[in-house]
Amino acid sequence: MRALVPLLSLFLLGTQAQHGAQWTYSVQISLPSTMQMTTADGTRYIAQQMHFHWGGASSEISGSEHTVDGVRHVIEIHVVHYNSKYKSYDVAQGAPDGLAVLAAFIELKDYAENTYYTSFISHLANIRYPGQNTTVTSLDIRDMLPADLQHYYSYQGSLTTPPCSENVHWFVLADSVKLSKAQVLRLENSLLDHENKTIQNGYRRTQPLNHRVVEANFVYPSNQEYVLASELQSYLSKINNNLSYLRRLLKR
Ligand SMILES: [Zn+2]
Repeated sequence: MRALVPLLSLFLLGTQAQHGAQWTYSVQISLPSTMQMTTADGTRYIAQQMHFHWGGASSEISGSEHTVDGVRHVIEIHVVHYNSKYKSYDVAQGAPDGLAVLAAFIELKDYAENTYYTSFISHLANIRYPGQNTTVTSLDIRDMLPADLQHYYSYQGSLTTPPCSENVHWFVLADSVKLSKAQVLRLENSLLDHENKTIQNGYRRTQPLNHRVVEANFVYPSNQEYVLASELQSYLSKINNNLSYLRRLLKR
């Protein structure tokens, strides 16, 4: 994904409430309608639920649905919202401008346990099988998201789980959440199907962009720029070498 067009900021409101976590395609946390997000064009979206996509039984196999320049992250968070001009999520999901998903990546950080995830992860033991649900109190969704909510990629796309409808405004945050390896493993191995097999690789294959424009509201350092910078460095050191050679000649 590349930075193309600058956008304005995005913010979340009222994220502190009681949530119930339940099974769908993944661990799903139902969210209170007081949690909302207003996008740069003034559209207000109401939060519906938050869920996770992860990869294999080891942290080597990453499970994010989006890739940034080909890099797949360990886990991806989706906070699903619906446009506040519709009465409910059910009505909005059939409308062309109905949904918005705030997405963020989880990265693995050695040893550092993310304490904002401790209570959530410990509750996963209660929802090992499809259809089970549990109530998690004192969970702050804001703290479970990356610190920086101001910088993101954005595009019009579809839901990644059926019905995969093409009516989702995606906001993929540039900043990420860091979890310890133990936390990632617990999350990845938290769910079982009815045959007691661990549910893994819950992500959809990366879809072709099909001329969709991915915008970003920050300047993204492209590979091209890295190449230019390192070329410039080598030119500078060549000039430096030539100068010291000339100085030595002059001293003679
Ligand atoms: Zn999802």
